[in-house]
Amino acid sequence: MTQTIALLGHPVAHSISPAFQQAALDALGVEARYEAWDTPPGDVPDALERLRDPALLGANVTVPHKLEALRLADSADAVARRIGAANTLVRREDGVLHATNTDVAGVQRALADASVALEGVEVVLIGAGGAARAVVAALRNGGARSLTVANRTPERAEALHEVAEEGDAPPLELRVCPLDVAAGPLRAALERAALVIHSTSLGMRHGPDEAATPLPADCFSPGQAAFDLVYTPERTPFLHAAGAAGARPIGGLGMLVHQGAESFRLWTGLEPPLEVMFEAARAALAARQGVARESKS
Ligand code: NAP
Repeated sequence: MTQTIALLGHPVAHSISPAFQQAALDALGVEARYEAWDTPPGDVPDALERLRDPALLGANVTVPHKLEALRLADSADAVARRIGAANTLVRREDGVLHATNTDVAGVQRALADASVALEGVEVVLIGAGGAARAVVAALRNGGARSLTVANRTPERAEALHEVAEEGDAPPLELRVCPLDVAAGPLRAALERAALVIHSTSLGMRHGPDEAATPLPADCFSPGQAAFDLVYTPERTPFLHAAGAAGARPIGGLGMLVHQGAESFRLWTGLEPPLEVMFEAARAALAARQGVARESKS
């Protein structure tokens, strides 16, 4: 029987997950299809019922359904509960749906691939949405010393204390400061930071602020690592600014592929073919950019 893995989100047509997940399934000869299910708000309970069918292995969950998926799943691991969101559902025996969050592993592996050490370092994080919660958990797991968070809406940054302080690992010292590069606290934190992370949607291709970066080049210094969660374009305005100042730019594609690889491992029980997944992800992004250029000309 050909099995199915679904991607639940709205919209999902832009996602490159089907391209690299299907490439991985095909490379290992797994008889399964990875399908994007566009799931408008309100349809999530029905979609989860469909996932209970024995023909389903599980699902990825993306914006805006990660919170609801966690709430509706039958069980959840500590990572998903700590973050308050699920990006992966695994169908277990008798149709039981188990929720987890592989974004945390995605952040950790992407930074490890780029040889960024977290133990004892000071970090600045710009943004405090859903993805930022996974970043905070990853920094804590990696033993980072302190984190300064700046976000347009300060209350959301304050809410990250829950992730920084809950659980068994030693707490991560977290400070919140205004998202104002002219002000002292953010400047001072940036000067001390070994790693600067961007997790807002600024600079995302086809987003409302495609050309924007929250930090100009004079906020970075040589030797710093600058990690942007945005993965399209490959060189975002944030990464461009970081590179211009001599910092080391790290794009978001590594996180995307690694979170998907961890989900793949959970659905199939197989070692994910990372090289195949990265190659297919890059090809899918390049194809999408080609289509976008054609439609503009
Ligand atoms: P989200 O929950 O919607 O949060 C969006 C964040 O962007 C919030 O911090 C928001 O600030 C900020 N923001 C939006 N517009 C802004 C503006 N004009 N000026 C300043 N800040 C602004 O989204 P998310 O899930 O955290 O995702 C954030 C980004 O990470 C997206 O670009 C997404 O594609 C990327 N991402 C990448 C991966 C990966 O695997 N590489 C995984 C997940 C997400 P407020 O709180 O003030 O609204």
